[in-house]
Amino acid sequence: WSKRDFPWTKKLEANNKKVFGNHSFRPNQREVINATMSGKDVFVLMPTGGGKSLTYQLPALICPGVTLVISPLVSLIQDQIMHLLQANIPAAYLSANMEWSEQQEILRELCSGHCSYKLLYVTPEKVAKSNALLRQLENLYARELLDRIVIDEAHCVSQWGHDFRPDYQSLGILKHKFPNTPVLALTATATASVKEDVVQALGLVDCVIFRQSFNRPNLRFSVIPKTKKCMEDIDKFIKDNHFDECGIIYCLSRMDCEKVAEKLQDCGHKAAFYHGSMDPDQRAKVQKLWSKDEINIICATVAFGMGINKPDVRFVIHHSLPKSIEGYHQECGRAGRDGQHASCVLYYSYSDYIRVKHMLSQGSVEQNSFASGYRSSTMNSGRVLETNTENLLGMVSYCENDVDCRRYLQLVHFGEKFDPVNCRKTCDSCFKNQSLVNKDVTGIAKHLVELVKSAQQNFSASHILEVYKGSMSQIVKKYQHNTLSLHGAGQNVAKGDALRVIRHLVIEEILVEDVKKSDLYGSVSSILKVNEKKAYDLLEGRQTIILSCGWC
Ligand code: ADP
Repeated sequence: WSKRDFPWTKKLEANNKKVFGNHSFRPNQREVINATMSGKDVFVLMPTGGGKSLTYQLPALICPGVTLVISPLVSLIQDQIMHLLQANIPAAYLSANMEWSEQQEILRELCSGHCSYKLLYVTPEKVAKSNALLRQLENLYARELLDRIVIDEAHCVSQWGHDFRPDYQSLGILKHKFPNTPVLALTATATASVKEDVVQALGLVDCVIFRQSFNRPNLRFSVIPKTKKCMEDIDKFIKDNHFDECGIIYCLSRMDCEKVAEKLQDCGHKAAFYHGSMDPDQRAKVQKLWSKDEINIICATVAFGMGINKPDVRFVIHHSLPKSIEGYHQECGRAGRDGQHASCVLYYSYSDYIRVKHMLSQGSVEQNSFASGYRSSTMNSGRVLETNTENLLGMVSYCENDVDCRRYLQLVHFGEKFDPVNCRKTCDSCFKNQSLVNKDVTGIAKHLVELVKSAQQNFSASHILEVYKGSMSQIVKKYQHNTLSLHGAGQNVAKGDALRVIRHLVIEEILVEDVKKSDLYGSVSSILKVNEKKAYDLLEGRQTIILSCGWC
């Protein structure tokens, strides 16, 4: 697909320079354009900032009809339209919160014999719900003027992904209705299973796939234990490494965003918060101040980010656990788009896992969309919740692992091979370069699982550890756990080490954290249960558990 003698090559190159001001193509851009211009269905995996927009905007410019672009966020669409109009490329969008008369006018223009639009952007729910739109698309199709259908952020189609949107699933109807129009699916994040799901759900035929490395060599990754002094640590980190530079701090809840922003302001940083409870004008104002460098630091939920295109973000800090490796990779991807060094620091505490898990089960985690009217509570059941929990456990496993190269762990998740030698000590694990020992912790693991069982699967990890260490505390005595045969069996095992084994057992799903209750103040407790099926081999002496560790 990299050939330069397609009928459109000359026009393509000229317009790339003249209209978009680019001197050349970035990796895969020419190839993607050639494949879609040849009428193929195309699936593109390109990292954030890789230049996906050009792969459909340039073809739209040199084709005779209209390109339909489905994009999840109105703010993102508005940003794109603004850039297109600045470049004198006629474009419009339709969204549910536009005036009806305005929508009618755009639809009328579409069906007129001389439609001036080159690109029409719509949100996915518009496709799902607007018959008027579908009729106009049928009309365009019949006149052979529906050039191309672009699905931006295509991973949202998949229930396996970290950002599933129900309205995306109905997009399969497009290929069905318009079989001769090529589809171009774009995403910056997808594992092999998500890709399969997307290709299938969209009904792509004989699809050409482009993917490029997701490694971002200019980003440095580290995971730091989150303690009570977390805010002091963050303040010091920024002052020492990125003072007065631009950054994003991702927080779990809206309240966290406000608290973190306030603390940073107290420490002398130009910080503001951004989340879904603010009205759109307020959000737009904060984003603008940030774009103009009048605010350096945005403390935000994941609602902030999709489509943010600030090149000089020097750090992305996660104040709490991200929901998935894919999400984490994408959030970190907003740093260092200019190719200069940037830091990605994640403050990790296991208790955040319990908190996020609880929020997921309640459907109260903010997603990176409010424009589409989508709320996670609408799908807070069954398979989706299971997938979310699995994704979250993947993230816990990433954080608990302070041994393997962080890049390697992320890239393996995307099905990419990566030799940690090439990390060149740009992650905390490689930097520490510990001399590691593999330790057989089967005995400890077996004891802990047995203890959970003999305590009737009704106690927290910290209680189990107390009993294992032989505590005679009031609470241990109250439940007569001092009489259990394994009481004190772990006298010689350090508590932190035993805790690591428990966390490993949770990651392996041999133990399950059952989030139990949330009091008025939102605090959450959890109890450990045994997954009998997964624990069977361990308890029968048929499974060994090895931990690679610096501690043993
Ligand atoms: P993505 O959608 O993949 O995150 P964008 O399409 O927003 O990335 O492009 C990111 C930036 O790169 C934009 O500022 C865009 O103008 C710029 N860009 C895209 N293609 C090229 C190119 N061939 N040469 C120079 N800059 C480019």
